[in-house]
Amino acid sequence: MAVVKAGAYGHGLETISRVLESCDIAFLGVANIGEARRIRNAGVQTPIYLLGATWEQEREEIVARGITPCISTLVEAKSFHDIAKRRGVRLVVHLAVDTGMGRGGFLPQELAANLIEIHKLDALEIEGIASHLSSSDEDEAFTLEQIANFNRIVEDLGGPEKFKWRHLSNSGGILGYTDHYCNLVRPGLMIYGISPISGFQEKLRTVMSLKSRVTLARTVPAGHSISYGRTYVTTQPTRIATIGIGYGDGYPRHVSGKNAEVWIRGKRHPIIGRVTMDQIIVRLPDDSDVECGDEVELFGANISANEVAQLADTIVWELFTGITPRVERLYI
Ligand SMILES: *Cc1c(COP(=O)(O)O)cnc(C)c1O
Repeated sequence: MAVVKAGAYGHGLETISRVLESCDIAFLGVANIGEARRIRNAGVQTPIYLLGATWEQEREEIVARGITPCISTLVEAKSFHDIAKRRGVRLVVHLAVDTGMGRGGFLPQELAANLIEIHKLDALEIEGIASHLSSSDEDEAFTLEQIANFNRIVEDLGGPEKFKWRHLSNSGGILGYTDHYCNLVRPGLMIYGISPISGFQEKLRTVMSLKSRVTLARTVPAGHSISYGRTYVTTQPTRIATIGIGYGDGYPRHVSGKNAEVWIRGKRHPIIGRVTMDQIIVRLPDDSDVECGDEVELFGANISANEVAQLADTIVWELFTGITPRVERLYI
């Protein structure tokens, strides 16, 4: 299952879904019916799975479009059953189990009793069972516990053969762990070429590069202040470049003052002063040949997205999903 929620992590929902459809995957994973609708409207026919709980008003369309939801409560199950029954269809669903994410799914101790009720709902077909790892990139002991608990639950419910699909792993789980009970995985970040666990990055190739251009290159005198709040003042005549990108594009304002760097003409150059909405300023060497129109990489092949996310005190998932629509997506 390729996870394409949040605009395919900022990469562009429709285009990425079309590419993945040609990769023979079992499901596209999305957060809500709006994303599922956009994928269908783009002509993509791959089965779609909803990763989270649904709101009552979404369910009619979910059933109508044959999207696969995961079920966290008996109330949800009955609601989907009633809609499917009325429409004269059977809805394929997966059971969600909460093994330690605390966000959705039946609690393990409640599952057996609820399943007795769910099995009576003849318009539902339980095709899969799922859980979610909360700490696969930071806590090995807890992750192993979650995997063991999930396997035990599957075993208690009659064994793996009872479910066509058993799935648990996000990118961290896939890269860092082995699980023989599961036959489906849900990679998000890693399909965009970023590893959440250090040591695996060299096995992946970054998909997204964020680029802009130099809009001005000039020399300012000593004692000249740079950007809002005058947090940077030159101590000598300084060559600087202005670049046409800012937090209005999703380049994080939080990197201000952290010596974040950009890549121009094969070299790193530090950002000086605060990131503004549409522009940033970088310091150039005195003999720099950087000029107006030069391409600038904010992150990509030379500056890692992880590096920028860390300087912004965030994670690369947030950095990617925060790239705003103003940034034109170009696909190569
Ligand atoms: C977002 C999400 C994933 C993908 O996670 P990554 O860490 O990006 O691989 C997998 N499963 C569920 C339930 C999710 O919500």
